[in-house]
Amino acid sequence: FFIALEGGDGAGKSTQAKALAEWIRAKGHEVVVTREPGATPIGKRLRSILLDVSSAGLSNRAEALLYAADRAEHVDSVVRPALERGAVVITDRYIDSSVAYQGAGRDLAPTEIARMSRWATHGLVPHLTVLLDVSPETARERFTEAPDRLESEPPEFHARVRAGFLTLAASDASRYLVVDAGQEPEAVTTVVRHRLDRMLP
Ligand code: C5P
Repeated sequence: FFIALEGGDGAGKSTQAKALAEWIRAKGHEVVVTREPGATPIGKRLRSILLDVSSAGLSNRAEALLYAADRAEHVDSVVRPALERGAVVITDRYIDSSVAYQGAGRDLAPTEIARMSRWATHGLVPHLTVLLDVSPETARERFTEAPDRLESEPPEFHARVRAGFLTLAASDASRYLVVDAGQEPEAVTTVVRHRLDRMLP
């Protein structure tokens, strides 16, 4: 069973991944928590290229391809093997992040980004994608470290990214759960657990 957590920076994805993993493990499942970019050795190198502020000026298409390369490696060496042995996989970011950031954010065609991601993943789609929706202003208040290259983008960029995520979620209500991530973390977890209770094997 494959779950993707999506949303802007500071939406609380990693906090939710941890809380959900604990709850699912307690039900007796093996759970693999993973993330993009940077879950594999090659991915870690791609992540440092992608997030370093010194990569300012990276071309939009090169950026999109590097995220896709990270995802291809991630699916091949982490996600698929785990799913094949019956584990529940929770990934912090997946295809929707590319459609929202490199598509809506950078102004590349979202349909092309989606097509490239399908190619990179051999068409692996999550059973449930949880969109943690939060205003960029609230998210910013949660930053504790120096902003990375993307977090340093202007508010208009983050507003386009947020709208991009919401458009994706509106396109398929059966596969998406949109949660107001401005709430307390425990309240967010409760909403997601409620949905998963009906879906988990
Ligand atoms: O979620 P995390 O902070 O690990 O993501 C790393 C950075 O990469 C974030 O700043 C996020 O905005 C950015 N990102 C992106 N496009 C993706 C995935 C992540 O711009 N497809």
